[in-house]
Amino acid sequence: MSRRIIPVADISAIPVIPANPGPPSPDGTLHDAFARPLRDLRISVTDRCNFRCVYCMPRAVFDKNYRFLPHSALLSFEEIERLARIFVAHGVEKIRLTGGEPLLRKNLEYLIERLARLTTPGGQPLDLTLTTNGALLARKAHSLKNAGLTRVTVSLDALDDPLFRQMNDADFALDEVLTGISTAHSAGLAPLKVNMVVKRGTNDSQILPMANYFRHSGIVLRFIEYMDVGTSNGWNMTEVLPSAEVIAQIAAHYPLVPLEAHSEAETAQRWGYADGAGEIGVISSVTRAFCATCTRARLSTEGKLYLCLFASAGHDLRALVRQGTRDADLAAAIAHIWHNRNDRYSQLRGSAHGPTLPGERRVEMSYIGG
Ligand code: SAM
Ligand code: SF4
Ligand code: SF4
Repeated sequence: MSRRIIPVADISAIPVIPANPGPPSPDGTLHDAFARPLRDLRISVTDRCNFRCVYCMPRAVFDKNYRFLPHSALLSFEEIERLARIFVAHGVEKIRLTGGEPLLRKNLEYLIERLARLTTPGGQPLDLTLTTNGALLARKAHSLKNAGLTRVTVSLDALDDPLFRQMNDADFALDEVLTGISTAHSAGLAPLKVNMVVKRGTNDSQILPMANYFRHSGIVLRFIEYMDVGTSNGWNMTEVLPSAEVIAQIAAHYPLVPLEAHSEAETAQRWGYADGAGEIGVISSVTRAFCATCTRARLSTEGKLYLCLFASAGHDLRALVRQGTRDADLAAAIAHIWHNRNDRYSQLRGSAHGPTLPGERRVEMSYIGG
């Protein structure tokens, strides 16, 4: 059967019409149609990547003919900072830089310095973090820390070098990422987290080796269920290994105790090793939807605001910025968009009338960030 692949650059934008945003909360926080506040902003700084992870940017789609965004389409650092400032004034407390591979964006430290200076209306510093494949981390960890980054999450799917190279499909060596992780650790980017996407039949053999490797390290290892994000990875439910099985596998070797969530909106369920060797987490995006507490918005590389990881279109904030819209009108547009948000893809995934219409295209993870 042939599947139609839609290039991400083809995804259309929802024009933004600044409108009456409805009554603001006393503290400026925005709430959506299900009363979920806007607290987290993920900002994608590039759609390019030096890996071709099989579950994210399959080489057959993201090949040499693939049209990545031209530089002029990207939000500049000044544009990102301006939008971030408005989001923070309206309740965003946490910003995560992502991509593509964020460390490929030239002079990223300059953007981090600017974002690190933002404070919430209550005067608190932001929780400023970044997700990376770790390839350039050994080189960059110290400059990122010096620029004001608080912490970092590294993606790592295997501890077996041939399997790691097969999964990143760029022949990238495992040792370089492990060195990146230890450099970030010693640079004080803490708490340091490592995310492993588990694909049944591909890297489930790595669950225990990964658990063993990160026990006693002070690094929090988290297992992510393989998701049906985008349309190019050929996702199939049979390749999803439910988090419950991950936990059962580890608990058979090392007894685990459940830990309290840090906050209501936390995506990971936390577990501690009963022998005190540290903490792990599972992110069960497929088997245990957490839409009810989803406080995340995503700003794409070219300035489109997505309200859900599984959305098919974004709201074009770049157009407003480049038309010379005033801050107050940008804030009103963002408020209007968030007030009308009713996305809850994962919650509806299993229902008879699923959330996506047949043939409907969805944004790619490499474009919007994780
Ligand atoms: N390149 C960076 C990296 O890999 O960390 C940041 C961007 S990447 C899109 C963000 C996260 O999304 C990574 O942790 C990656 O493993 C995860 N991811 C990508 N495709 C996924 C999928 N189909 N299911 C679950 N997680 C996925
Ligand atoms: Fe690149 Fe990250 Fe996607 Fe892998 S998961 S292809 S490293 S963007
Ligand atoms: Fe949030 Fe959408 Fe994921 Fe639900 S499916 S948790 S609304 S990003």
